[in-house]
Amino acid sequence: MDNPTLSAIADPMGAAIYDYHKNGCAATLVVRSSMFDDDEIPVADLFRDFSQMPPLERTALQMAGGRILDVGAGSGCHSLALKNMGKEAQAIDISPLSVAVMKDRGVDASQVNFYDPDFSERYDTVLMLMNGTGIIGTLDNIGEFFARLKDLLKPGGCVLIDSSDLRYLFEEEDGSLMIDLADDYYGQLDYQMQYKDVVGEPFDWLYLDFNTLAYYAEENGFKAELVAEGEHYDYLARLIPA
Ligand code: SAH
Repeated sequence: MDNPTLSAIADPMGAAIYDYHKNGCAATLVVRSSMFDDDEIPVADLFRDFSQMPPLERTALQMAGGRILDVGAGSGCHSLALKNMGKEAQAIDISPLSVAVMKDRGVDASQVNFYDPDFSERYDTVLMLMNGTGIIGTLDNIGEFFARLKDLLKPGGCVLIDSSDLRYLFEEEDGSLMIDLADDYYGQLDYQMQYKDVVGEPFDWLYLDFNTLAYYAEENGFKAELVAEGEHYDYLARLIPA
C-alpha cells in the first residue's frame, strides 16, 4: 500500500480506516457536534460486509445496476459487496487515506470531490449511502447537488440515496415537535471528527426527511421515490431526472 500518512490534509476518518485495515483494530473515532454530546463511530462498522449491512443498504446494492458510482465510499464496503455480486462499481472519496485503503482492498477508487466539475464521467447508478444526503452540507447547497447529479447520470440512470428524519431528536413526549421555525432546517448539523491527535476541519452534514428531499428534487428537475423505510426514521430513496 502507498504511504499517504504524510498527507497534509487532516483526515481523521481516513486515519481510523487506515489503522483498522492495517491492524484489524483502531482507536476511538470521535464525532463532535454543537447539537449533542460527543459521539463515537465504531470503526469496525465502516468495514461491514453485505450480511452485516442494514436492510436499506442491501436493497440499494441489489437495485444498483450498470456502471455504478459509489460516492463518499469510505473503506469501500459497498463497492466490494457490489464487486462480489459481479457488478461494476467505481468509488470516489475526498479522504486520501480511505482511497489508499480502498485501492489496497481491490476497489477501483479515486480521490475525487463529488463537487469537482472536472470529474465528468457518467453512470447508470449513483450510490450515496450512510446518510447520503450528508454531502449536501446545508440546504443552500441543494441546487448545486442536483446539478452535479444531472452531470453524473447517463440517460435512464438513477441515484440511490439514504437519510433519516431527525425529528425524533426534537419530539416531546406528547408527539409535538420542539422546532423553532426561524432556525435553520432541523437536520442541518455541524460535525467535527477526531482520531487520536488528528482533528479534522468542522463541516456541515445534512440529514433530510423524505418529504423535504422530494420537494427540492422536484424544484431541481428530479423525481424522488420512497423505495423503503427503515426502523428508525430512516429511508432509502431513488432520484430520477424528471
Ligand atoms: N459510504 C461509506 C462511508 C460514509 S462516511 C459507508 O457507508 O461506510 C462519508 C464519506 O464521505 C467519508 O468517507 C468522507 O470522506 C466522504 N466525503 C465527504 N464529502 C465528500 C465529497 N464532497 N466528495 C467525496 N467524498 C466525500
